[in-house]
Amino acid sequence: MKAEIISIGTELLLGQITDTNAPYLASELPLLGIDLHWISQVGDNRNRLVATLKRAYDRSDIIITTGGLGPTEDDVTREAISELLGEEMRVDPELEQWLRSMFQKISYDMPERNIKQANLIPSARAIANTRGTAPGWWVEREERIILAMPGPPGEVKQMWENEIRPELKRRLSGEVIISRTLKTLGLTEAKVDEMVSPLLSSTNPTIAVYAKLDGIQLRLTAKDRDAAKAEEAIARTEEKLRDILGWAIWGYDEDTLEGLIGNMLRERLLSLATMESCTGGLLASTITDAPRSSDYFKGGLVAYSAQMKAAFGVDAALLAQQGTVSPDVAAAMARAVRLRLEADIGIGITGVAGPAEVEGKPVGTVHIAIDAERESTSLSVLYPPRRHEVKRHAVYSALFKLRQLLLSWEQAVSS
Ligand code: AMP
Ligand code: MG
Repeated sequence: MKAEIISIGTELLLGQITDTNAPYLASELPLLGIDLHWISQVGDNRNRLVATLKRAYDRSDIIITTGGLGPTEDDVTREAISELLGEEMRVDPELEQWLRSMFQKISYDMPERNIKQANLIPSARAIANTRGTAPGWWVEREERIILAMPGPPGEVKQMWENEIRPELKRRLSGEVIISRTLKTLGLTEAKVDEMVSPLLSSTNPTIAVYAKLDGIQLRLTAKDRDAAKAEEAIARTEEKLRDILGWAIWGYDEDTLEGLIGNMLRERLLSLATMESCTGGLLASTITDAPRSSDYFKGGLVAYSAQMKAAFGVDAALLAQQGTVSPDVAAAMARAVRLRLEADIGIGITGVAGPAEVEGKPVGTVHIAIDAERESTSLSVLYPPRRHEVKRHAVYSALFKLRQLLLSWEQAVSS
């Protein structure tokens, strides 16, 4: 099954709204075993829409459109589909009745131009819309399916989940799709790609590598009529990937670094405190995204200026000597906050989020230190110079480093 999505609306082409319908539908299709091959956007222009539909009709089995089902002149999706198929539109009496009743419900007389929303062609049946007045069209001809939905994302979601998805699921062969995401940190996308390249040609499961702010992820997707077989295929490949990527893998699927760290700290009865400069509190905020973080998180200080760093216990002479962005200052921040907040572990972060250099250090420079009574560790990195991303990367690197430290203690105990 080859699918194609067409998002319709001149406002999309003018950059006034961002297409969220296509990504939503794109994320849904693999779960039904439908391969999406194309997404296009086209304005509210009948000729261009017919041409776009024609191209889709010639190369795809399922065509899903959103937009252009409104009552106004510029909404031409119905007209374009009937032109494509050479079928004439007629007002469907049942649909007209439903439409009038929708308006009665909200105590409005139906404007006459809305009558066009009751149109159908012989190959189409209406798809119920509980959130708006535009019914969708479910069109079937010559082994093709065209699904036309209105534009508003809430209506698309409702129609898809309640009317379209169940029907497609019922009809498709019953192949199951199982997917698993492996999350890594500490390696670049190119490096991960290179390391796993012998496996990338695999088709069941397929392996997709992509970059997220919390690291490089690999998504394995297996298809089979037998769910157990799909699970096995995933498990086999996952094991190979674990051999290759080892320490870099920190989690799976819905795992978050803050959640995993939280569990580790809770189990070990350890407490944590943070002192942040360039991340401006984002580390503390991320740590507290995990539920029940009060079990182990004592608190965080945001020491943005050198003066505040000194006030919170970083040696003023060190600051004067080394500047605020240096490995020693990060270490001193981690230690100072650990002592001041009486925590078992302190984390210090200092760096240059940008857009300008600080003390001659380039944007993206970040020093992270973790301090505990038994051991301290640190990390210096140069991230790509985009302010928002530097902060996020720094936070995730700090959490990843903490995870490694906690794991190394465990190994030291067991060996
Ligand atoms: P329409 O059904 O084409 O009249 O669209 C109605 C409204 O739905 C538009 O004004 C947008 O606000 C929204 N909309 C339409 N298409 C999309 C899309 N692809 N992604 C997100 N919102 C959309
Ligand atoms: Mg529109």
